[in-house]
Amino acid sequence: MTRYVYDFIEGDRSRADLLGGKGANLAEMTRLGLPVPPGFTIGTDACRAYLATGSPPDGLFAEVDTHLRRVEQQVGRRLGDPHDPLLLAVRSGGRYSMPGMMETILDIGLTDATVAGLAARTGDARFAWDSYRRLIQMFGRTVHGVPAEEFDHELAALRATAGPDGPDAGQLRDLVSTYQKIFLRVVGHEFPQSPQEQLRQAVQSVFASWNSARARIYRRQEHIPDDLGTAVNVMAMVFGNLGPDSGTGVAFTRDPATGLPGVYGDYLPDAQGEDVVAGIRNTVALPELARLDPASFQQLTGVLATLERHYRDLCDVEFTIERGTLWMLQTRVGKRTAAAAFVIAAQLVDEGLITLDEALCRVSGAQLGQLMFPAFDLAGAPPPLTVGVGASPGAAVGRVVFDSAAATAADGPVILVRRETNPDDLPGMIAAAGVLTARGGKTSHAAVVARGMGRTCVCGADALVVDPDRGEFTVGDRVVRAGEVISIDGTTGRVYPGAVPVQPSPVARYLAGELDPQADPLVAAVHRLLGHADAVRRLGVRANADTAADARRARALGAAGIGLCRTEHMFLGGRRELVERLILAEGPDAVAGALAALLPLQRADFTELLAAMDGLPVTIRLIDPPLHEFLPPLAELTARVARAEASGRDPGRDGQLLTAVRRMHEANPMLGLRGVRLGLVVPGLFAMQVRAVAEAAAQRVRDGGDPRPEIMVPLVGDVRELAVVRAEAERVLAEVPDAPAVPIGTMIEVPRAALTAGQIATQAHFFSFGTNDLTQLTWAFSRDDVEGSFFGAYLERGIFEVSPFESLDTAGVGQLVRLAVAQGRATRPELTVGVCGEHGGDPDSVAFFADAGLDYVSCSPYRVPVARLAAGRAAVAAGTGTSDSR
Ligand code: PEP
Ligand code: MG
Repeated sequence: MTRYVYDFIEGDRSRADLLGGKGANLAEMTRLGLPVPPGFTIGTDACRAYLATGSPPDGLFAEVDTHLRRVEQQVGRRLGDPHDPLLLAVRSGGRYSMPGMMETILDIGLTDATVAGLAARTGDARFAWDSYRRLIQMFGRTVHGVPAEEFDHELAALRATAGPDGPDAGQLRDLVSTYQKIFLRVVGHEFPQSPQEQLRQAVQSVFASWNSARARIYRRQEHIPDDLGTAVNVMAMVFGNLGPDSGTGVAFTRDPATGLPGVYGDYLPDAQGEDVVAGIRNTVALPELARLDPASFQQLTGVLATLERHYRDLCDVEFTIERGTLWMLQTRVGKRTAAAAFVIAAQLVDEGLITLDEALCRVSGAQLGQLMFPAFDLAGAPPPLTVGVGASPGAAVGRVVFDSAAATAADGPVILVRRETNPDDLPGMIAAAGVLTARGGKTSHAAVVARGMGRTCVCGADALVVDPDRGEFTVGDRVVRAGEVISIDGTTGRVYPGAVPVQPSPVARYLAGELDPQADPLVAAVHRLLGHADAVRRLGVRANADTAADARRARALGAAGIGLCRTEHMFLGGRRELVERLILAEGPDAVAGALAALLPLQRADFTELLAAMDGLPVTIRLIDPPLHEFLPPLAELTARVARAEASGRDPGRDGQLLTAVRRMHEANPMLGLRGVRLGLVVPGLFAMQVRAVAEAAAQRVRDGGDPRPEIMVPLVGDVRELAVVRAEAERVLAEVPDAPAVPIGTMIEVPRAALTAGQIATQAHFFSFGTNDLTQLTWAFSRDDVEGSFFGAYLERGIFEVSPFESLDTAGVGQLVRLAVAQGRATRPELTVGVCGEHGGDPDSVAFFADAGLDYVSCSPYRVPVARLAAGRAAVAAGTGTSDSR
């Protein structure tokens, strides 16, 4: 018979697929002998069965009962015992953390019969009735969808009339009775008085919460698969709301924002767990616990040290202190900012806990990319409006909005301002440049979610009075209305009026060679890990650059050459007219004249580029896009000619242009006269470009340089296209004295080229995958159109988790890449193979290209460090890196 339920002591952290992250780590803590309340985990397969059939799998609750008996024995209390009831917490917990997205129900087991027993045991009737009202509220909302306002309204009314110490036991008992009436009215039956029934319904509602709208949005954003399901953790309740010697909190083994060592966290005396995460009341900083309860604080720091040594990483925990006794409710390897990831990884190497290879795997190219974002230039900043908690770093400037709808509808960057956030604010947080809240600490929902998605966030700015109904917030007597621009600094927590100028990040400055590697702990950590990536990676990193300035920037950022110079970019601006002349030229002499005018300009471009990349390869691609892109648009020309004709004027040159544009007009230019096809039908065009390359290189040689140009032919689909162009190129190269040897290769960007790569390699010294076109042509997705039209719907419906233009479709396009590499190298073992599509700078795609055996990736200059890091990680993951433990 399938088994679904596991005691905490039976699991361990390697079983997160089955037990979920929370369950696996509770099991690990139990095994470590840490103080975890007794409990058990219902595995994710039970959830998957429930989601597939709509009902719990056979035998599930019989198994739950068996495990419940054990918990009862360990705790020494029984569920439903009217004299001394066991109460249970039921918490979700999937394979990957989804903070606040699924359900939790506390205080299961309270009924009209047991509430008195709880009061007697704790000696606190007020607490017992308060717990009962919490259960009805959570259960009503979660299991039966009773709107939160129904209960909130009554609670607020009671609080308003209660004395300074809050409602007393009698008032709370009356509130429970009111809640029960609300429950009956909205749900249609009484609040269940069987604790077993409460437990069964709670478990099923946790299963169902896997598919709640907000959980689905979160998974899509975080690329978590939809079919994993959640585990359910059932645990004996411990209470942080039993008076001043009780409380609840969240702690980190290091600062999750900066990575610096120390004990960080928030503590809320006399409160229950969810109060902290919801950010409903303002917490105190954790060191305050040392004063309030030194023994528990000391025990907690001991637990944190044990966890960090055991997990060899930053951990975060949720804990509760019940009348001076510490209980651990959760741990996990903690989320952290990109900066903290680098700093912590380097520190753990220094502390001898991990190797440099492991450290490299703890940071990602995407995180390095985030660190290269700019920060505020404080010299130009006005005095801050207020200061909150810097919860997720970055510098965000935008117009104020107060809800998700406005954030998602806005045109341009916005700052979402909320009193506190809850999971329903997720769409707004995704759409906003930054998030600002008045309440909650570093572990509030806003902070955790924003950090996870790399969104700038300032929370707990408690001077802020947020009034969404009036569409404004106030700080003292200063009013800021919806639509006004503010700037928020997620590192310092400062909130500024207006748009504060931004300046480059220290990491970006270090990468550009403007800052010493030891300038600060973050820069030092980046320097060290990037250096290690360079030492272990097999994959070269080049840049896509068309100008000498870009080439210099790329070189400073560590590019080992240019993998793609798009020569068509050199024909724009003032040179457009020369191209027009070429297109309009009639007869061989006119064509030759137009080309001769372009030649010196191209030669000058290439000379500069070769000088900037002296000693490194520069792959120059012959002109690619359709020539008519250089002419005015058809509609505009037609109108100009029509106006001229209507007023009896001779349209002159416009008339000629219109004829040319009409002649060259294509219904589907992406599939038309582009790339090699253009070179084959416009005589002399490619030859002029090749001559310009050869002459520029020869000049560099004469000037004592070391030019290494390579010529690349675009959009080849058949070996014969390449053979013709190559023969002509070699003839031209041979005519130029002093020109160095110039390899001639091709883009592989048409599926047919990939499928016939073995033949094509007979004519190519190198291949470079143009994965933009290869994706376009493999999927039949117009790259100019689809991202703006139906990709949103495709992402929404889970057809893909990320656009295949952003991250390589390894299952489809990737197979063409592997095939072409294998066939190309079979024909020509020394064939150099690279990639120059946008995917060359995408960390996940870089890992694929490393695995596919490419020699290099080429990406925009700014992405070069990201690709270097990703290539290093790929080498370590493939086991080809060193295991150096310095
Ligand atoms: C490609 O298609 O991937 C490529 C690099 O060429 P372009 O983007 O210029 O078409
Ligand atoms: Mg292309």
